[in-house]
Amino acid sequence: MGNEDEAGPSLRRHAIERLRALAARGLSRAVRPTLRQDGHRVLREGRELLSFSDNDYLGLSRDKAVCAAAALAVRRHGAGAGASRLVTGGHPLHRALEERLADWKGMEDAVLFGSGYLANIGVPGALMGDSDLILLDALSHACLHQGAHLSRAAVLTFPHNDVAALEALLARERAAYRHVLIASEGVFSMDGDRAPLAALRALADRHQAWLMIDDAHGFGVLGDGRGSVHEAGVRAEIAMGTLSKALGSVGGFVAADREVADLVRQTARSHVYTTGLPPSAAAAALAALDRIRSDPDLTRRPLALARLFAARVGLAEPQSPVVPLVLGRPEAALALQAALEDEGFLVVAIRPPTVPEGTARLRFSFSAAHCEADVLRLADAVLSLRQAA
Ligand SMILES: *Cc1c(COP(=O)(O)O)cnc(C)c1O
Repeated sequence: MGNEDEAGPSLRRHAIERLRALAARGLSRAVRPTLRQDGHRVLREGRELLSFSDNDYLGLSRDKAVCAAAALAVRRHGAGAGASRLVTGGHPLHRALEERLADWKGMEDAVLFGSGYLANIGVPGALMGDSDLILLDALSHACLHQGAHLSRAAVLTFPHNDVAALEALLARERAAYRHVLIASEGVFSMDGDRAPLAALRALADRHQAWLMIDDAHGFGVLGDGRGSVHEAGVRAEIAMGTLSKALGSVGGFVAADREVADLVRQTARSHVYTTGLPPSAAAAALAALDRIRSDPDLTRRPLALARLFAARVGLAEPQSPVVPLVLGRPEAALALQAALEDEGFLVVAIRPPTVPEGTARLRFSFSAAHCEADVLRLADAVLSLRQAA
C-alpha cells in the first residue's frame, strides 16, 4: 500500500496539498514552543519577549498561592482524576469548586467540564433537541458554533450584535419551534466588544427564549470578577465561563438553575464520556477565585491598561482587556507581529478562519501582570511601526 499509482493519492499527498494551499494564502500555523515566565515574559526560540497575547488576565497561572494549591493537590490526590466524574473521577474538589462558582455567579448550581471548549460543545445538545432552534451571534467562538451544530436543534446565525436582525429572526421563526436558545458571548474573544446583554435578555423574554452567554473573557475581569453578565445586571439561564483564562488554570463550567445544571451533568456527552479534570486544576481554580474575591482592584487592572494603550495609539475606548488592531490581509498582520518581535514584544497575528476573511489582525490582551511603563512602550512601538509602514 502507499503506492500512489495503484492505490490513488495517499493521505500524505492529500495533506501536502492542503498545507500548500494554506501556505499560499498566508494561513499556515505552527506551534512555537514557548516558556512562559513571570510578568508575561516568554522565552521563544532563544528570545525573551514580553507577551500581550496571553489570556492569563490576572497573572494567576503563576501566582504563588495558586501554584502551591495545585502542587499540594497533586501530592495528596495524584496527577489525574482517573475516570469520568460519573464513575469514580468525581473528586470532592470538583464539587467544592462547582459550589463556589455557582455562588460567585449568583446561580443555584454549576457543572465543571474539562475545558471551556468541552462545555460549549456539550451543553447545547444536552438542552436542545429536534423541534428546537438555536440563534447564534455570527462571531461566537468556534466551539459555540460547533456545539450548536452537534445538537439536534436547527441553528441560525444573526449578524454580530445586530439586535434588530435577531428580533426579525425571532418574529419569523419562533412559532415553528418548541424551545429557542439565544447564544452569544459576553465579551467577544477576537474583538473585545461586548454583547448588548440587556437587549438580548429583553428579546428572550418577549419571545419566550432562553439565553446562554459565554463569558470566557469577562469572567474574572469585569463586574468585579463576576463577569459581564453580572456587570450588565441581567440574568442568563446558562452562564458559561472558563477556568483557563483569568483563573489561570484549565477547565470550563456552566452555571444555571439546579435542575438545569443536573440535566447538563447527566446528559452532556462532553461531561459524561470524558475524564474529570485533574483535582489539581480544581484546586488551582479555587485558589484563584479566592484571590479574585478578595481583591476587586486586581480584576480592574487589565481593562485600565487596555484603555491606557488604546488612548495612546488612538484606538476606540476598549470595553474589555482585548484590543484588536485590524490590518486586513494575513501578511500585514504577520509583518507587524514580526516587527514587534524585533522590539521585544509578542503579539500573535490572528488570521482566518479564527476571524472573518479580510480582518486579519493583531489581538492585544492586557493583564494585571503588565506594568504601565511596558504598556506605554508597546503603544509607542506600535505607533512608530505603523507610521513607518
Ligand atoms: C477560550 C474560549 C473558549 C474555550 O475555553 P477553553 O477553556 O480554553 O477551552 C470558549 N469560548 C470563548 C469565547 C473563548 O474565548
